[in-house]
Amino acid sequence: MAYLEIRDACVHYPVRNTWGTTGEVIKAVDHVSLSLEKGSILGLVGESGCGKSTLSRAIMQLQPLTSGSIILNGTNLSELPAREIRRRRTDFQMVFQDPYASLNPRMSIFTTLVEALSQRLSLKKNEREAAVAELMNRVGLSPEHMYKYPHEFSGGQRQRIAIARAIAPRPALLLADEPVSALDVSIQSQILNLLTDLTKQMGISMLFISHDLSVVHYLADHIAVMQRGKIVEYGPADAVFNHPQHEYTQTLLAAIP
Ligand code: ADP
Repeated sequence: MAYLEIRDACVHYPVRNTWGTTGEVIKAVDHVSLSLEKGSILGLVGESGCGKSTLSRAIMQLQPLTSGSIILNGTNLSELPAREIRRRRTDFQMVFQDPYASLNPRMSIFTTLVEALSQRLSLKKNEREAAVAELMNRVGLSPEHMYKYPHEFSGGQRQRIAIARAIAPRPALLLADEPVSALDVSIQSQILNLLTDLTKQMGISMLFISHDLSVVHYLADHIAVMQRGKIVEYGPADAVFNHPQHEYTQTLLAAIP
């Protein structure tokens, strides 16, 4: 059974002008159906403004669907009361493009990670350091830096901290929205490898969003290509990358330096 199923999802934003709404809508997500197997990686690719972030916000229940449904592990999220959604929030976590903006600058790494771990475990005071150290090791960070603050780390290290925070509650689904776009090219593959290894080891399903087809091809099992709110091509990653059928996918491929 698919772990995540998006069925005929639409998100329409009303077009506004100075006087209010015009009656027109932007179809940011337009009849999208996709599924994601447990432990597999789905790459969602498309240029800026095609609706990728809107779709990921809809999956996270941060943006209501105009129609359609999001089914997580057999449960239709759109039908759940807000209280139940809050209870399940630990099941789906996000990693964002800019780790600096998503980490609290006033919180040490230790405090950030204890907070994230506490969503799943009730850690006694004397267990906290060991649990944070284990988590830091898992994402390739040296535990001796646990009492440092985000600004004391490099961009790649900060993204590792953001990834540690995301996996701490042992989510079933990870949404990674352009997680390497702000990083130096030399560091990008390290972070992509880390995400691949962690999701495979922990059986996490990942929706990986990027504007860059080569980045998506690097780690995804399947690729979905989005253009103006619609999925125009979907298939196994190698097939989409090596033999793109849709003209738009061919354009994305030609844009790779
Ligand atoms: P992407 O993540 O692929 O860059 P987005 O999901 O951010 O695309 O945007 C898709 C479309 O929806 C764009 O035309 C954007 O301008 C529009 N849009 C995004 N968020 C809003 C919003 N809150 N209100 C109105 N329009 C929006």
